[in-house]
Amino acid sequence: GSRSNAQKIPRYMRVNLLKSSVQTVIEDLKEEGWDYIGKLSTDSFKDSALALSEGQFGLDPFLHDVLVFAVNTDLHVHPLTVSGVLVQQDRASCVPAHVLAAPEGSVVLDCCAAPGNKTTHLASLMGDKGQVIALDRDQKRLSTLTEMVARSGATSVNPIHQDFLTVQPGSEDAKGIQMVLVDPSCSGSGMRQQIGDGDTDDALRKRLQTLKRFQISILKHALRFPDVQRVVYSTCSVHTEENEEVVTEVMAHVSEYFQFESVFPQWTGSRGLVGFPDSPCFLRLKPETDLTQGFFVACFQRVKRKQNPEA
Ligand code: SAM
Repeated sequence: GSRSNAQKIPRYMRVNLLKSSVQTVIEDLKEEGWDYIGKLSTDSFKDSALALSEGQFGLDPFLHDVLVFAVNTDLHVHPLTVSGVLVQQDRASCVPAHVLAAPEGSVVLDCCAAPGNKTTHLASLMGDKGQVIALDRDQKRLSTLTEMVARSGATSVNPIHQDFLTVQPGSEDAKGIQMVLVDPSCSGSGMRQQIGDGDTDDALRKRLQTLKRFQISILKHALRFPDVQRVVYSTCSVHTEENEEVVTEVMAHVSEYFQFESVFPQWTGSRGLVGFPDSPCFLRLKPETDLTQGFFVACFQRVKRKQNPEA
């Protein structure tokens, strides 16, 4: 659609819990004259978020470290942003780290990590205790991640320039990794501006098949790690090829060992597409209902350990 028809999206700011707390930030902002309206309700999220006027803000009903400001609020030169306390991040992009829910002290792998929005969020939620291994195969993007990690104040992040598919699940490096965040390259069709916007339908379908094969190979690889208990898969794509089709095909291979865990079950109305039996477990976020970019999240939870991980 044309830009004027595009859904208006509030401004979301995540609190970096390594530098402050949500309560402190709320107090700081109130002292500056901002009007805090409290936690937004799950039922009327859209209406109340869009009703925020300039100078007002609220707390996300599902994401306890995400503040919601009026559309077009500009905080990028605010001292709390400059000092790394507030991080501008889309609401949907804040979901995967919450779903992974890594306890303090966990060893977590972010296998497609750059530029590091979700890596730094993981470290924040883990209180910088434990380890976040952040892989990316693109050196330039990894240096952006390294800068972002430095700004966040996290010391538990270990950025590594490596192709995830070359990490052997049976190796010493893979041992002890308990959770993996899989946020692979995708079409980006859930974002407002995207590459390949002018593709013909044929070219698009072909490109989606290539992406799907790549995404399946990355996700399957993550599920081969012997100590992994939990894997969260996410994309900023709206295409079923990159979302329900990927996780359904992968689950068919690992269902003896993993089950889908329902992602934010109380987040009603934003589940996977009909036609996939496990869709009630998936979260599929949309601008029109969730005031986010188009986004997809699924969670694999181990139910049985492999006796012989090398097999
Ligand atoms: N998670 C990031 C964030 O929240 O900031 C965004 C990740 S982006 C969607 C996908 C990333 O995966 C890209 O930076 C790309 O270089 C990386 N990537 C793609 N294939 C990879 C592979 N085989 N191994 C490691 N990284 C890979």
